[in-house]
Amino acid sequence: MGSLTVPQQLKLRMLAQGMTITDRARSWLTEATNGRRLSSADYASTSGLILKLDDDVWVNAPVADHNSNFVADDGAVLDLRDGAPSVRFGSLESPAAYALQPAFHSKGATSPALDVVVTHGDRARLSPLQSCSMTCTFCNIPYDMPISAYRLEPIEHCLEALRVALEDPIQPAWHILISGGTPKPKDIGNHQELYLRVLKTFPEVPVDIMMVPIPGILDLPALGAAGLNELSINLEVYDRRCQQAVARQKYNRGRDSYLDFIESAAEQLGPGRVRSMLLVGLEPTESTLEGVEAIARRGGVPVLSPFRPDPVTPLARMRPPSYEELLDVLTRSEEIVAKHGTLLGPTCPPCSHNTLSFAGGKDGHVRYIHEHPAMLETGVSHHASGLTAASTADEPARS
Ligand code: SF4
Repeated sequence: MGSLTVPQQLKLRMLAQGMTITDRARSWLTEATNGRRLSSADYASTSGLILKLDDDVWVNAPVADHNSNFVADDGAVLDLRDGAPSVRFGSLESPAAYALQPAFHSKGATSPALDVVVTHGDRARLSPLQSCSMTCTFCNIPYDMPISAYRLEPIEHCLEALRVALEDPIQPAWHILISGGTPKPKDIGNHQELYLRVLKTFPEVPVDIMMVPIPGILDLPALGAAGLNELSINLEVYDRRCQQAVARQKYNRGRDSYLDFIESAAEQLGPGRVRSMLLVGLEPTESTLEGVEAIARRGGVPVLSPFRPDPVTPLARMRPPSYEELLDVLTRSEEIVAKHGTLLGPTCPPCSHNTLSFAGGKDGHVRYIHEHPAMLETGVSHHASGLTAASTADEPARS
């Protein structure tokens, strides 16, 4: 890619070093959101504030509230300029619109969605399983919800929770990701049924699935026929020694089993519909780039996720990748995927908030696949999408 724009540079700075919030910006946000939580803070990579900078650059900015393990005073700063939120780092500066949290996330809200669905930007993530049958040391799930807490949520409860998220009065979700932990073999049938029930219940809503391809859980012909939008089969890391250290059960399954599944799924579902995520910063850069190459060669869409150490995990004392490392991986990955005629994922701009990508199409233009999320902003001037402009704290930007 060419040189980064100022908002793009700011995104990488924030992913590497986090962001502090000035007192006046925090007061403004607290007042404008009626004291609602500023972040869902439910997962290692979604612990920050979701902001949209100029040029439609989306970022999940880590803050000390949830990542005091690495966010320090030398990162970016969220402040007010002429009454509007703005982010700066040194001489770099951009207006910053804040993506509102949905009403059902609020403390005190009594909602069936609270324990199984979280909305990030414009996407509701359903986690039908409490805990996970695997233990990856970068992931908070097995530490926040140990295997002793393993529990499947009833399918009816999951469907009702999704309804709540899709109809939220502040931030209605526009698409769905079914994700969360990996079930035990005895619960594969439950997940198969859940996937099809969600697809059947919400036929007008794009539904993605992110899952470890354990045998039998992903019936591709059935899912394709039911209207599955995209699949995410995450490699996490490519280096075998690193994988053994941080994701032992995934290591035991073998890297080729993932790549074979990605290739088969891409053939069955079609181009651009099978993603695979790689963490940036846990393994040597060259290994990540080999992973990008392998995924793209098999017909998958690589998604780069900057490693964000979660305080509850054994990796809490590690640092996220530096700005220079992120820039290097991004630049070289874009060259690799271009050779294969694809792009780094995801294609949804709000969903790029925690990825090392800018969601521009092959022509470089950002396109909103869904309606624009409800933002809290004053003064963000550039809307490449041409969609909804500023909205107030309690008015969804749904047209
Ligand atoms: S399999 Fe997924 S949910 Fe389970 S511990 Fe690993 S990354 Fe977390």
